[in-house]
Amino acid sequence: MSTNGPGDLPPDDLWTVPHAVAPPADPAREAAEAATVLANAAAEAEQIAAQAARLGPTGRPVPRFPDPSPLASHGPARVIAMCNQKGGVGKTTTTINLGAALAELGRRVLLVDFDPQGALSVGLGVNPHELDRTVYNLVMERDVSVDDILLKTNVAGLDLLPSNIDLSAAEVQLVGEVAREQTLGRLLAPVLPDYDLVIIDCQPSLGLLTVNALTAADSVIIPLECEFFALRGVALLMDTLQKVQERLNPQLEVEGILATMFDARTLHSREVLSRVVEAFGDRVFHTVIARTVRFPETTVVGEPITTYASTSPGATAYRQLAREVLAREVTAR
Ligand code: ADP
Ligand code: MG
Repeated sequence: MSTNGPGDLPPDDLWTVPHAVAPPADPAREAAEAATVLANAAAEAEQIAAQAARLGPTGRPVPRFPDPSPLASHGPARVIAMCNQKGGVGKTTTTINLGAALAELGRRVLLVDFDPQGALSVGLGVNPHELDRTVYNLVMERDVSVDDILLKTNVAGLDLLPSNIDLSAAEVQLVGEVAREQTLGRLLAPVLPDYDLVIIDCQPSLGLLTVNALTAADSVIIPLECEFFALRGVALLMDTLQKVQERLNPQLEVEGILATMFDARTLHSREVLSRVVEAFGDRVFHTVIARTVRFPETTVVGEPITTYASTSPGATAYRQLAREVLAREVTAR
């Protein structure tokens, strides 16, 4: 009956599955393969977590800000106005500590106290009431030059033009001057070749002194406190900046918006920060300054946080801001 011809069932041994299709079960190998799959999944999860961690407090991935290369020569200085007509937002604190951090990076920095409160001078250990000559004399007296009022600070490479309450009179007296808005710029011009950066600490108003600072400046840093109403008043500030650009200083740019007094533990602080990023996008510095009592302490001792508490998070933050400011300078060129 059976002829074993084509189309007939093959002999029994042909039904065994050939090795090439599926090897006999090898528990050790299967376990090894499963372990590899698990390890890959774990690595992927780790990568995603790391990526999330790289998102800074502003919700964007934080780029690396490398230490800038040392300078072979100095100047001419870029002039930055530290400006917000609201008081208590961190203008003076940022001027001192950004200045000190830039000086640590080998930059020659001149800080200009342009607030009659003299807080910048006090914060650098100067008693403004004991000064014979200040920025007021520079602005009002024709025979006074920057060198006559210049003070060295305890930080190498960081110089100061100090002020005290006298400066409040300059605001009134300047009104009658020719080219009154250009006064500060004209007076600073001779020393710009000696410095890499000049930072002008503005008073909390948009009056004539601040307009002078904005006219002398290449760019503006706007510190914003991560608090209710942080953005209130910023429209007016932007409006002023635009007017100065149109009428007095076409080169003026917004260097960046700096979030200060940030408290990562409060939802409120995080919400304010995300609104600020929504409003200003990439103009917001990646560096955010956290709220810490170390800053008020530094005012009492009269030195920057970079020397008073050199390894503190506040010092680290201002050092990062300094590198970020210098990195923006490179990109802008
Ligand atoms: P502004 O110059 O805008 O008026 P200041 O820099 O003088 O602001 O800061 C106002 C007050 O807040 C000061 O007492 C200062 O020490 C304090 N301060 C500034 N920055 C911080 C911060 N990040 N955390 C806590 N306190 C701060
Ligand atoms: Mg101030």
